[in-house]
Amino acid sequence: MNIEQSVPLGRLTTVGIGGPARHFARPQTLDELEEATRWAAAEGLDVFTIGLGSNVLVADEGVDALVLRLEGEFAGAEARDGLLVAGGGAANAVCLHRTRAAGLGGFEFACAIPGTVGGGVRMNAGAYGGDWRGILERALVVSAEGSEWRTADGLGLEYRRSALGADEVVARAEFRLVPKSPHEIKATVSELQAQRKAAQPTNKRTFGSVFKNPDHELSAGRMLEAVGLKGHRIGGAQISPRHGNFIENAGDARAAEALALMAEARRRALEEYGVELVHEVRFVGGLELPPAGETL
Ligand SMILES: Cc1cc2nc3c(=O)[nH]c(=O)nc-3n(C[C@H](O)[C@H](O)[C@H](O)COP(=O)(O)OP(=O)(O)OC[C@H]3O[C@@H](n4cnc5c(N)ncnc54)[C@H](O)[C@@H]3O)c2cc1C
Repeated sequence: MNIEQSVPLGRLTTVGIGGPARHFARPQTLDELEEATRWAAAEGLDVFTIGLGSNVLVADEGVDALVLRLEGEFAGAEARDGLLVAGGGAANAVCLHRTRAAGLGGFEFACAIPGTVGGGVRMNAGAYGGDWRGILERALVVSAEGSEWRTADGLGLEYRRSALGADEVVARAEFRLVPKSPHEIKATVSELQAQRKAAQPTNKRTFGSVFKNPDHELSAGRMLEAVGLKGHRIGGAQISPRHGNFIENAGDARAAEALALMAEARRRALEEYGVELVHEVRFVGGLELPPAGETL
């Protein structure tokens, strides 16, 4: 299989920030995926799988790993016997299209989540009361050690996290859905998308929620709004003027600038509310936040 060198990774993310992947491959089949993970293990390299890059912040220096993007058979999805059967690289939008055409409901909550099936498994993506855990039957997980099917329990899906190992790749997934008319599905999706548009910056370059919602009466967004951070800018990175828990790339932003904003947000949340915000966005490369309370 073809291993590309120094591939710009920021361009494969929704926020458009970050340096190159030292090694990069686009497996099209299960054989190629297994071969790529074995190659990385033999070379002593970490593996990082990128989906639609909608929840990642890549370091400005890039990442010294093998980055995989699942294409070919992994990008497809089909409805079969009440199940949605999808590749790990299938976009949620494609899955939603297939389920609607087949009259299968239960996936509508994902209409505003701009990721893939595999990214959704790792993050236990969710919105509007639904999440992957609620509908996932099982997923095929691949690593250099081999491939195995795991149930939602076996994947350890919790609020915006899973127990997947860093080098493990979700190659396929099956979701259990329920009969629902395409007309009703369409109406639900329109309503959810309108709600989303009214509340979040949907037409800006962002990486989705910056922080997980804390165990507090205020959500992370409301908390950062209350401490006056909406619109706060460091270099090209800006806390969204529309929603406190989004960082926008307002023009040639660097990962270091986004990180500095996050550190400042954590400092203020700790100072005002005694809350240590935990980041939801996944860091790629050597990015690290300072302890809560400290700035960069
Ligand atoms: C505008 C906007 C709105 C969003 N709204 C929501 C929301 O409502 N709810 C929500 O939960 N999220 C939301 N997100 C975040 C994001 O879309 C989800 O986390 C999504 O599931 C990430 O999928 P992805 O394919 O883009 O993964 P990436 O962002 O590419 O990667 C995220 C993580 O998943 C891992 N990963 C990706 N593919 C695989 C795979 N095949 N196997 C193993 N690991 C993999 C990556 O290694 C990384 O750790 C939003 C993001 C944006 C930009």
